[in-house]
Amino acid sequence: MHQTMNYQSYKEPQFDSGLVKHELLKQKISVIQSRKKFDVKVVGYSAQQCEIYLLTIGEGPTSVLLWSQMHGDEPTGTRAFFDLFNFLQADDEHNALRQLILANCTLHFIPMLNPDGAEMNERRNAQGIDINRDFLQQQSPEAHLLAQLHQKIKPDFGFNMHDQESLWSVEGTKQPASISLLAPPADNQAYVSPTRLKAIQLISAINEMLSTIIPGQIGKWSETFEPRAFGDNFQRLGTATLLIEAGGYLGDADRQYVRELNFNILFYALEQIATAGYQHQEATAYHQIPQNTKELFHVLIKNVHLHTPAGTIRVDIGLNHNNTFNAIALRQQALYTIQDVGDLSTYNAYQIIDAQGSKIEADLTLCSLANFTITDASNTTYCFQNGWLIL
Ligand SMILES: [Zn+2]
Repeated sequence: MHQTMNYQSYKEPQFDSGLVKHELLKQKISVIQSRKKFDVKVVGYSAQQCEIYLLTIGEGPTSVLLWSQMHGDEPTGTRAFFDLFNFLQADDEHNALRQLILANCTLHFIPMLNPDGAEMNERRNAQGIDINRDFLQQQSPEAHLLAQLHQKIKPDFGFNMHDQESLWSVEGTKQPASISLLAPPADNQAYVSPTRLKAIQLISAINEMLSTIIPGQIGKWSETFEPRAFGDNFQRLGTATLLIEAGGYLGDADRQYVRELNFNILFYALEQIATAGYQHQEATAYHQIPQNTKELFHVLIKNVHLHTPAGTIRVDIGLNHNNTFNAIALRQQALYTIQDVGDLSTYNAYQIIDAQGSKIEADLTLCSLANFTITDASNTTYCFQNGWLIL
């Protein structure tokens, strides 16, 4: 069984909150370059002429290509890469595992494929293109670069690192999908080719490991074929490709816990590749991972007495929030909108408030900003004004 790591000793410092910008990435890469364990190259430029890097380490016959942040506003994979870089460069009691990975694999990392999107905190690149829908046309320089590198490296394995929104939950558990996995299909039938079978078995192994840490919080993305996406095409071209999505976890607004999960997934997967341990896994374990679904709100207020012209009715209110700049408070703050109203007893939420029959007279139009006040069982009052929670 795999070794447990003291994650904190590898966690890259000053990389915890807010956005991951290109300037910071450059600084961190120059430190890695000076330590001389990785081969560091600028392999291309974004639409706005930011450097895109390839970091290579290891001398093994199995080549692995790992890329992060092709969607600029999804930085968790990039953070986990730097934690993994620290692990790979260290000299400590895990040298045997490190050597095993580096003697069997050659690892190629592209941290932050989309620096312009990262700068703007947006999914798309500076030209407004979703890089993960640009495999066929390759009109964006970032998609063209990734396709070229893939052609040159011809990796045996591919890791496509993303973030998903915190409202994705796991079918059957109603828990947040803290990690979602997929071996992207290479055609409309989701045919299990020998290449795809490797990705499926590796995900089965990852799922087994993760299930001991976050049982019920691992989801599987839909197997719908997307002919324009990279994972689907790399799978078709003979690279066993895994999609790894970091999601929500209670109390993990900055996604530091799911970052640690990403780190665990990556070094465990690399160990499995190095030892070929994943080949003992059954494909059925992959197919049994429950689907991603949406049965979750950020906040669920139960048992509200709503005054309507036709009388008072009992309803639940589902609220979601976005982090938005509050011009009055002069800081980023959660802005709450009405997501659903009625019998929401089949849903779960990160926070459940029992309003115990609090009476409100409010406009609960869907998608409008929350504007009402309720009091819960412990006499805490929640006052929402124009979407802001006033404490
Ligand atoms: Zn994404």
